[in-house]
Amino acid sequence: MQPLLLAAGNANKTREFRELLGKDFDVYDLSFFDEMAIPKESGRTFEENAILKAVAASQDRRVQDRHLLIVADDSGLEVDALGGAPGIFSARYAGEHASDKENIDKLLSELARRNVPLDQRSARFRCVIALAHEGNLLGKFEGIVKGSIVDLPRGSRGFGYDPIFVPNGFEQTFAELPAEVKNRISHRAEAIRALAAKLAALKPSD
Ligand code: IMP
Repeated sequence: MQPLLLAAGNANKTREFRELLGKDFDVYDLSFFDEMAIPKESGRTFEENAILKAVAASQDRRVQDRHLLIVADDSGLEVDALGGAPGIFSARYAGEHASDKENIDKLLSELARRNVPLDQRSARFRCVIALAHEGNLLGKFEGIVKGSIVDLPRGSRGFGYDPIFVPNGFEQTFAELPAEVKNRISHRAEAIRALAAKLAALKPSD
């Protein structure tokens, strides 16, 4: 099994990475290393933030001693009627340390305030994954899933904005759909498929 360190402390993301990468990879996250300094997400795009986090973590002494490959994911929701917001600010849309519920409430109230009708609530989740090793960027991988925002949260699976996002071609939200369905069609699934192909290509020289 190939070890991979996910430069994130979000247990939901770690679970999705484990489910999506399967049994060939042993996925650790930052809960495995005490006090690893990951820079603030100061980039202007998902891509800049993912690269920032992956490269920084790959320079940590303990990571280099173990020859670990690092992956970092930056992701979020873009709502067309809100000019692409919350975008890179998805995790802290309603403020630093906001809960998922607070972020959802803010998003729905922004749409209501603008009187955006249900048929004009197109949105997409975007995910960019960066892969790094010993300070070098080895690749970046993007995934997108298109859908729309409903008027009231539905379902209890998943995390973040899942209860208000209905992927195109479905009637249930990501929080209502079984995890296998989300893991087949999601932004993270698409990006991870590309990452897995790159990791498979790297293997022989490792
Ligand atoms: P990050 O940790 O800075 O990448 O923040 C990602 C944020 O975007 C999360 O806290 C969620 O609010 C949102 N997000 C990203 N991916 C998903 C997903 O698969 N479902 C629901 N929300 C997501």
